[in-house]
Amino acid sequence: MSPHVVICGAGFGGLELTARLSAAFGREIDITLIDKNDAFVFGYSKLDVMFGRERTDTVRLPYSSISKPGVHFRQETITAIDPEARRVTTDGGSYDADILVVALGADYDPAATPGLVEGGNEFYSVAGAERLREVLPGFSKGRAIVGVTSTPFKCPPAPSEAALLLHDYLTARGVRDACEISLVMPFGVPIPPSPETSEALLDAFAERDITFVPDRLVRSLDPARRVAILDDETEMPYDLFLGIPKHRVPGVVAASGMTEDGWIPVNSLTLETRFPGIYAVGDVTSVGTPKAGVFSEGAARVVATEIIAALESGEQPAGYDGIGSCYIEFGSGRVGRVEVQFLSGQPPTGTYYGASAALVAEKKDFGSSRRARWFGLD
Ligand SMILES: Cc1cc2nc3c(=O)[nH]c(=O)nc-3n(C[C@H](O)[C@H](O)[C@H](O)COP(=O)(O)OP(=O)(O)OC[C@H]3O[C@@H](n4cnc5c(N)ncnc54)[C@H](O)[C@@H]3O)c2cc1C
Repeated sequence: MSPHVVICGAGFGGLELTARLSAAFGREIDITLIDKNDAFVFGYSKLDVMFGRERTDTVRLPYSSISKPGVHFRQETITAIDPEARRVTTDGGSYDADILVVALGADYDPAATPGLVEGGNEFYSVAGAERLREVLPGFSKGRAIVGVTSTPFKCPPAPSEAALLLHDYLTARGVRDACEISLVMPFGVPIPPSPETSEALLDAFAERDITFVPDRLVRSLDPARRVAILDDETEMPYDLFLGIPKHRVPGVVAASGMTEDGWIPVNSLTLETRFPGIYAVGDVTSVGTPKAGVFSEGAARVVATEIIAALESGEQPAGYDGIGSCYIEFGSGRVGRVEVQFLSGQPPTGTYYGASAALVAEKKDFGSSRRARWFGLD
């Protein structure tokens, strides 16, 4: 009998793992890949949707396109995970796994920030980005705040990207002079592991008259007075609030008993959980890398090598190195890149590749190579 690998979550981590295992074993493996949605959307596509650069239907990658040997995709909602029994229950049935991989990502809890739902917006979900696409054309003067409400949060460069793209968007509409843009971040600089990247971003903010508010979180909004209240009680008036909502594990993961301090702890080299035969990858873990797709994908690569080694007595992987490369939208048609290394035993370090038009093409290739590898799409 083929070993049954159950992969919970078809995001960056689950898709990469599925592609690698299918390529290695073909029909010799039985992979059940489960996701509640019918399509995958890259995180960065939400910025494109929000600023009207793309339509939602053009950035959705339908799971129905996945046609890989040994892979069965189930569009079902996972309602329980029993790590002792390695059993996953969904609204469509239940699955017993020889090897179980939890790649369910991070959910959002906008209601955890008082006033955010009533008086603000978030652009971290597809629905939030779609709503903002309708809201933004109505903003022609006043104060805009891009604000982080809690840590950890996905893709640390994304708030900076949103502020820079908002500048472009308002400039293109001829209303930039009537608007102020501020960015509230919980770090002293935009990208702490890479001083060079931070300097480039701070220069870009200064050139565009974007106010960077370091070392602060937005604790609440008072919609009646239209003020954002920061964690040091400072009040910032706003007319448009673009929030990064509180992140947490999906409810089903919290209920599974696999978490500690809110996230699933794993062996940082092997991505194994404390439950035999169960791995966890990506945003759902507390592995020590930022919550970003490239890190979820890197962790999935390691798990794939381990599963291949275990089932074929092959080469053991070297261990997860926590290296990831993120593209950063600088606006004005340019993209930068930062390569960061975590988990080396030393403080994280980063290398910056200056914003250019060439990196716009490289980012496009990054997306197309995943479309091809994961979905078989051109
Ligand atoms: C605005 C923005 C910009 C970003 N830009 C970048 C970027 O440029 N580069 C980058 O690397 N990262 C970026 N990210 C971050 C990136 O999108 C995430 O970190 C990445 O998707 C995490 O991958 P994952 O596999 O851990 O989880 P996810 O990709 O979130 O996948 C988890 C999957 O689990 C499914 N799921 C959850 N609960 C259930 C359930 N109960 N039942 C069934 N299915 C369930 C979800 O539907 C989802 O498909 C960005 C994020 C945002 C919001």
